[in-house]
Parts: sequence; structure tokens; C-alpha cells
Amino acid sequence: MAEDPRDWEVETQAVRGGLARTPYGEISEALFLNQSFAYESAQAADDRFAGTSPGFIYQRFGNPTTQMFEDRLALLEGAEQCKSTASGMAAIQLSLMGLLRAGDHLVAGRALFGSCRWIISEWLPRFGVETTYVDATDIDAWTNAVRPNTKVFLVESPANPLLEVTAIGAVAQIAHAAGAKLIVDNVFATPIFQKPLVLGADIVVYSATKHIDGQGRVLGGAILGPDELMTSAYKDMHRHTGPALSPFNAWVLLKGLETLELRVRRQTENCGKVANAIAAHSKVKRTIYPGRPDHPQAAIIANQMTGGGNVVAFDLGDRAAAWKFLDSLQIVDISNNLGDAKSMATHPSTTTHRSMPEAERVAIGLTEGWVRMSVGLEGPNDLVRDVSRALDAT
Ligand SMILES: *Cc1c(COP(=O)(O)O)cnc(C)c1O
Repeated sequence: MAEDPRDWEVETQAVRGGLARTPYGEISEALFLNQSFAYESAQAADDRFAGTSPGFIYQRFGNPTTQMFEDRLALLEGAEQCKSTASGMAAIQLSLMGLLRAGDHLVAGRALFGSCRWIISEWLPRFGVETTYVDATDIDAWTNAVRPNTKVFLVESPANPLLEVTAIGAVAQIAHAAGAKLIVDNVFATPIFQKPLVLGADIVVYSATKHIDGQGRVLGGAILGPDELMTSAYKDMHRHTGPALSPFNAWVLLKGLETLELRVRRQTENCGKVANAIAAHSKVKRTIYPGRPDHPQAAIIANQMTGGGNVVAFDLGDRAAAWKFLDSLQIVDISNNLGDAKSMATHPSTTTHRSMPEAERVAIGLTEGWVRMSVGLEGPNDLVRDVSRALDAT
């Protein structure tokens, strides 16, 4: 019997999923830097455009390399369909615009990536879409936010930067009872540790810029979900508004997927060690890491995640201490990215979250002492030494 890639182990899916070889039999996936395609006849072009014969038409609609990336990620996610985009923000923007229209209402977790908050607070109101922000860890808050015109719930879990975790299954039930769709931004968990579609979400979005590339090179994004919804909500919008992923970037990301599982597991192992050293240090007021039993939502994490991920947040009390820590690091970079092979740390309240009004920052608990660190693939002893020395210096 023929192998069904959906039954493969995750490692096999990551290496071989979606592979579509040319007649040359190349081992590494081919890079098709190719805009358009020739048809054998006028009839063949007619059939292609009518959708009655398969094949590619134009890079904005699809491309063989981009398709391999989408098929591989869909397999890893356990999704029927994946649409790739030029960045994570393009994916989030498309995921919202495809489901919302004037007069609709959105409910969103209040701890969100900065640009997501900009879309919701500054952009969607122009089109008559109102939003209620909720404490995403408070199930009653989701229920209470529902209005008759609520069409979409959006949540990031774990959320940036303080790694709050939301019970995805419970929130999905509330969304569905209200006739709304749940979109989950799964960047921090990665497809290796959390499967929102299995937990009840309707749509998953990624910034592939983070762990999927994982080596600091290209931007990319993806939307995943069931065929019917992906087609009805996103197919035409994706074709006609042009957020397509470049085939070159798709190729880089496709190769990134091959080592995703390996990298994310090692980063997580390293992060566990670094988080324990941070939590044990006398200068640290509080440590939040989804892989530690003292995470505020540890019970939910045990239910829906199979690993803690590679990001840890910790409170050093005030800005001076947080900056002293960053400036004392010798190996770890000061940088706002995450999921990279190189470890990096940032001060969210003056970088990634500086445009968030202070009252809202305080509401999510983001005071000036917090540092967020993305743990990479360096040796764990070197990382623990670097971090411990920088903590000593604060
Ligand atoms: C980085 C990030 C995004 C945006 O992705 P880009 O690829 O930078 O556009 C969205 N959500 C989360 C959680 C992110 O970390």
C-alpha cells in the first residue's frame, strides 16, 4: 500500500512532506524563480483558468516551490490547506480581512504582537470593524465580550512578551457558540508543540520569519485551515491583493522546515536550563517560562502544549537593571527577533511594545523591569554562564 504522508512521524513530514520532484530527480527541492507558465494550447490555457485542469498560472497565485512549502507546513500542522504570505503580518492581516466586513465585531486577546494591535486598533476601524480586547487568560471575559455581530476571535498563545497562555479549546467553544471563527497566532508554540486546529481553532497563522526560518534570513508567513474555509475566505483575496510569498523565500523556509523539529527541541532544552538559572538568581523578581511548573497557566499548558518553547521572560525590577543586564551580555545579542539559532534578548517596553500606551502595558503586566529572551542553539553552559554573569552585574 502507498505511504500516506499524513501518517508519517513529524520528523519524516518535515524532511519529505510536500516534496514534488522534477524529472531530474533532484534531492534538494528545486527553486522555481518563475513568474508565469506556458500552456500547450489555447484550450489548455482555458482549462487551467477554469480550474478544470491542475497547474500553475502566475506566481501571485502559486508557484511550485511555494506550493512545496505550503504542502509541507500543512502536513506538519495537520491542516487541509496552507496559504503562504510574504510576512507574518501579511498572514494576520489577510486572516482578519478575509473573515470580517463592515459592521462586524472582533474579540482579541489584549497581549498581542505590536503590529497586530496596530491593525486592530488603527486599521480595522476605518472599515467599520470594532474590537473588544480581553484578558485572554480569563474565559469569562471572552464570553462577556460577545455581541450579536461578533465574527472573529483572535488570540496569541503563548502571547508576546509575557507568555500568557489561553485555553484554546474553551475559547473555541465560546467562539463557535457565538457563530464566530477562532484564529490562533501559533508563532511562540510552533507546529511542533501545539496544534490549535486539533484543539478547536478554525485558522492558524504563522510568522515563518521566526522558528521556521530560524536562521535570521527571510520574512514569510502562512495561514492554515480546512479547505472549505480557506477557499471561501482567503483564496480570491490572496490572489487579487498580492501578499504572495517570494519563491526564493519559500525555498529558504522549506529548507528551514527540514530542521525545525530538531532546532526547536534543542532550543527548548537550552531554554529550560537558562530559565532555571534565571529563576534561581537572587536579582530576578519573577520568571515566566511555559516549560516551568510555576507558570501561571501550567495546567492549561499540560493540556495543550507538548513543550515549553524557547522564549523566557523575567522581571529585574526596573529599567536600569534590565538595561544593565542587556549591556552586560557577551554572547547573547540584544535584538527583538525570536526563534533564531542565535540567542537574543530584548527590553520589550522600550522596543517591541513601546507604541503600546503605558496604561495598556501596565494592564498586561509589562513594567520596565521585564526582559524577554529567545534562546538559541549555542551550548547551554555558555548561555547559562553569560546570563548568570549579566544578572550578577545588575
Ligand atoms: C513576528 C511575529 C509576527 C509578525 O511576523 P513578521 O514575519 O515579522 O511580519 C506576528 N505574530 C507574532 C507572535 C510574531 O512573533
